[in-house]
Amino acid sequence: MAKDRAKVKQVHILAAPVKTFWLNFHLAYACQHSGACCTSGWPIPVEPDRVIPIRSLAARRDEEWLVPAVAAPADVAGTLALQANGHCVFHGDTGCGVYASRPASCSHFPYVCLIDRRGVHVTLSHFCPTAASLLFAPEAPIAIVEGPSPVAGFDVPEGLDARESLPPLRSPDRLMTWEAFSNWERAEVGKQPTAPSLADAAVLFEHARVAVPAPWAWAPAPADLERTWQMLVAPAWPRFAPVAQRYRAAKVVASWAAYTDEGLAAVLRVADAADAVLRVETIRQCMSAGRVLDADLLKQAIRHSDLLLVHYADPSVLSSGTKS
Ligand code: SF4
Repeated sequence: MAKDRAKVKQVHILAAPVKTFWLNFHLAYACQHSGACCTSGWPIPVEPDRVIPIRSLAARRDEEWLVPAVAAPADVAGTLALQANGHCVFHGDTGCGVYASRPASCSHFPYVCLIDRRGVHVTLSHFCPTAASLLFAPEAPIAIVEGPSPVAGFDVPEGLDARESLPPLRSPDRLMTWEAFSNWERAEVGKQPTAPSLADAAVLFEHARVAVPAPWAWAPAPADLERTWQMLVAPAWPRFAPVAQRYRAAKVVASWAAYTDEGLAAVLRVADAADAVLRVETIRQCMSAGRVLDADLLKQAIRHSDLLLVHYADPSVLSSGTKS
């Protein structure tokens, strides 16, 4: 298992202004209140300083919305209660009932951030359907651009804080320079996925699947991948090559794998795994729908891929590759 060389940490104050870097096709992201995060059944932590503002907006007794945390860190007062259907207690027909005071985890979704000495690097979880839609928007060529902080009120958002780390490893015994790392990212986001064989994709998918820690689990790959790919996916796949390329780029930037002991090799390994997972989940969607790939099916496949890769799989296992 790769060892992280940095720590996840929340920082609100910086001595100097910090630059924030985005992929150009992500920059237009704005919450459209799809409710994907609010209906996921996830335990949402509530910070102690959010209890009073939420209490005043919710107009409910605390025990109706706040589940006390047992043995939690000091910065967690509890988690949001869930309705019987698994939706957040505050999610309703008109969206979030406490939006202005929602917990930090809510305001940070779907951002995935990496903070290093160069600044804040932002990618998105495409489990959010609004984020997934951005992969389909015509925007070329892919570029890394400067933009605003993703979360209002946070100069530095929550994420992997690698500011005390050395630059990533280019090879087992050689560090990059910061400038070389930025140049490498700029070149890498423009590349097409490596297009593994379906046999190789199945191996990479299985590695991601078993990286999901118990008690959670992810469904195995469907049987007969090759036949379904040829019948339902291959005829339309070339049309969606730019979407797959943007999806890969979103795994190269802000990659926490850069700050593991395997550096760039781990980043590329995660990007390859993402491409493989996307192919398998696309087959699953086409099989389930019984029709040839279209944009709606690919968008669902992307959402499922990031549910596995971003929210369920252990990132240290994912970046460690399939050799073990
Ligand atoms: S507090 Fe609001 S934004 Fe957060 S999960 Fe609940 S409904 Fe969604």
